[in-house]
Amino acid sequence: IEIQARETIERVIEQVKVRNIGESEFHQTIEEVLHSLEPVLVKHPEYIKQNILERIVEPERQIMFRVPWVDDNGNIQVNRGFRVQFNSAIGPYKGGLRFHPSVNLSIIKFLGFEQIFKNSLTGLPIGGGKGGSDFNPKGKSDNEIMRFCQSFMTELCRHIGPDVDVPAGDIGVGPREIGYLFGQYKRLRNSYDAGVLTGKGLTYGGSLVRKEATGFGVIYFVDEMLNYYGQSFENKRVVISGSGNVAIYAAEKAMVYGAKVVAMSDSSGYIVDEDGIDLNLIKQIKESERKRIKEYVARKEGSQYFEGQKGIWTVKCDIALPCATQNDINLDDAKILVENGTTVIGEGANMPCTREAVEYFLEKGLLIAPAKAANAGGVATSALEMSQNSMRISWTFEEVDEKLHEIMKNIFKASKEAAEEYGFPGNYVIGANIAGFLKVADAMMSQGII
Ligand code: GLU
Repeated sequence: IEIQARETIERVIEQVKVRNIGESEFHQTIEEVLHSLEPVLVKHPEYIKQNILERIVEPERQIMFRVPWVDDNGNIQVNRGFRVQFNSAIGPYKGGLRFHPSVNLSIIKFLGFEQIFKNSLTGLPIGGGKGGSDFNPKGKSDNEIMRFCQSFMTELCRHIGPDVDVPAGDIGVGPREIGYLFGQYKRLRNSYDAGVLTGKGLTYGGSLVRKEATGFGVIYFVDEMLNYYGQSFENKRVVISGSGNVAIYAAEKAMVYGAKVVAMSDSSGYIVDEDGIDLNLIKQIKESERKRIKEYVARKEGSQYFEGQKGIWTVKCDIALPCATQNDINLDDAKILVENGTTVIGEGANMPCTREAVEYFLEKGLLIAPAKAANAGGVATSALEMSQNSMRISWTFEEVDEKLHEIMKNIFKASKEAAEEYGFPGNYVIGANIAGFLKVADAMMSQGII
């Protein structure tokens, strides 16, 4: 049976590569997840018989569309839009929209595939999906952003709905974009479907804590993991890549828990502040002014700025939180981190460490909070936003925060127990994949050949 399990996995991976030529990020996540499911297939041969893996790697539906819009100079621009509706076994498709020039089908599929397991781990009824565009929001005016969002939604609106598919934000899509998208959806449908998008503004159906949720959730998860080993954030040196939504609120909560955050970054470079980062200044620069992180050093004495994305992993720290984007930490970075004494990795972004980096960390005995589990607080709070929209009520900050905290504790528990049950105690990477997979696989089995 072990041989049969391994052969099944290799066959499905091979088929994914043949069917999805050149989609390297998608291949990467498929290999990572499928290899970790070997002990599951051994224990549940019915999944082999029912071809669950072959079905789960094929998106239920993939939509690609033209997004034409007019820039401020009157020129007609064309971008490509995507929505991949990956798996709806346990609920309507759910997942963010990413607007970034690097976006292509491979990236949307890798994100959509991860979303299936992440969403399952939240314990809430949401399926997996992802979308976005290769549109670059950098340097665009408010009006250009609005016109782009309106054009994007003009096509997307026929594929989504509160019980069908519920997009949200991701890189390049925040409250401003969600507002424009929602406004256009409402005009086209003539229906106030508040639950069609999450991450909305607080005046029109948004949820308290949604903005902070991913970052807070990362810290709640890592804290739970640390506590299990008799440790805490108290007096730890923390380095965080990124300075978006995830990074900022992870930093905020880490500081509340007594950590010192000494470095943060954006796509141009990184800052080091040995006094501990002044988070209000970061919020002012990144959230209000939408400027580069480099601005920080001009306004904060004793801080330093370094060009380039990579160097941040040379800054000495106890806990590294990659909260920027995929493949941020490769094997070389991993070696530097381990050499500098880092003992904990908390993945705030999606797939921020390469497979080689993860293998190396595990081999060296580091604690890893894997993305699917650690960053699930964002989408979990999106599901809480959907609940509030359905009930036409809104919970207080404390109520949502408490639910989020509880969800993150449960995700740690589920990942830990699955890791133990399947023979990999302490390996939360495998534990999270297995725990997330089991619920989806069971639902698929119950629903016939779907
Ligand atoms: N983009 C976030 C993620 O990667 C949130 C998705 C959502 O809220 O639907 O999970």
